[in-house]
Amino acid sequence: MSGGPDLLVVGGGLVGVAAAWEAASTGASVLMLDRADVGSATEAGAGILSPATTASDDPDWVAFVMAAGDHHKTLARRFETSWTRCGLLKLAMRDSDLPAFEQLAGVVCSRDSSVVEIDGAIARRRFPVLAPVKRALWNPDAARLDGRVCRAALAAGAEDAGAELRAGNVARFETSGDRVIGVELADGTRIACGAVIIAGGAWSPAFDAALGVSIGVHPARGQILHLAVTTGDPGQWPIAHPVLGQYLVPWPDGRVAVGATYEDGAGYDPRPTAGGVGEVLREALRVAPGLSDATFVEIRVGLRPASIDDLPVLGALPGWENVAVCTGHGAEGLLLGPFSARVVVQQVLGEDPDANISLFRPDRLR
Ligand SMILES: Cc1cc2nc3c(=O)[nH]c(=O)nc-3n(C[C@H](O)[C@H](O)[C@H](O)COP(=O)(O)OP(=O)(O)OC[C@H]3O[C@@H](n4cnc5c(N)ncnc54)[C@H](O)[C@@H]3O)c2cc1C
Repeated sequence: MSGGPDLLVVGGGLVGVAAAWEAASTGASVLMLDRADVGSATEAGAGILSPATTASDDPDWVAFVMAAGDHHKTLARRFETSWTRCGLLKLAMRDSDLPAFEQLAGVVCSRDSSVVEIDGAIARRRFPVLAPVKRALWNPDAARLDGRVCRAALAAGAEDAGAELRAGNVARFETSGDRVIGVELADGTRIACGAVIIAGGAWSPAFDAALGVSIGVHPARGQILHLAVTTGDPGQWPIAHPVLGQYLVPWPDGRVAVGATYEDGAGYDPRPTAGGVGEVLREALRVAPGLSDATFVEIRVGLRPASIDDLPVLGALPGWENVAVCTGHGAEGLLLGPFSARVVVQQVLGEDPDANISLFRPDRLR
């Protein structure tokens, strides 16, 4: 085994292709290997990018989330990522939603003056299939993003920048002291490399035992339904997100994506289930009874890479000189993933990172 790329990226979801593009565009030689598992989170993601309504008041987290939102705008100027500013409504639909609504409004409106409370009737006019709305927050800067389109755009960008993107199932790392010197694929192929980024989504912990680390991520299954409305133009509607409950993401082709379940105990099982479909439909029709005549189009199921403390897991793996991880984005990987990938690549290549990622260090999960 000799030669090989400077950087090998394991996994080709949105995070893996973003890492491949970032590294290749610095001139590094890059190979990205992807197994295309059924249940890829990127394939199922709803597409909500709303940094300003993040509920956390941790300044480091807020800065990271806002930078991730800005990074999408930069990417959209360069590639056809599908990023579209559409606005988002945060909604209280029931009296029991009001305490959560007030808490969120307190955090969000004091931090960002562009997020404002609007009348419930106005919210309903913007998203006409909704049930009566008790209270509503409006984030005009929220955007929607089709994860599949963004992934394809960044993959094409990575290849244009010289990266090689290939199908492949990384089965094992070959090590020497505190370095990974190459990988072995399930078909026995061996490939040398200078450094590795593990971007395998929910499957990333497969390497824990061999590397003597805990990546601290598990699959959280999400089932999401796509409905097609028979009246109105969802392309003109904002995203609707009850503070307690599931969201509705409208698309210009007439679909409204509704969901999603958040199932911590389903393991690596990517099946749509009767219970999941029932839960999503019940919830969607409670919030938006005007969807009852919509056409059922499809269900998508994805395994979110969820971490124990709900924060991403980013950066150098403890005890290893040339291995980093970029995962754990849970329910926010479409928003955070491309920026995380940029910062992890910068760390691996020894450049000044655009953000401080010490909050997300993998060794916090040991
Ligand atoms: C229903 C649902 C709704 C969501 N909605 C949103 C949203 O509105 N906004 C938002 O920001 N985020 C959302 N997310 C979260 C977001 O989709 C994920 O966090 C993000 O897509 C994770 O990307 P990833 O590249 O880490 O993982 P994935 O997309 O799962 O990709 C991982 C890839 O790695 C490959 N792989 C794994 N192990 C190996 C190996 N050993 N060798 C080779 N390849 C390997 C897999 O085959 C897979 O292709 C949602 C997720 C779901 C499921």
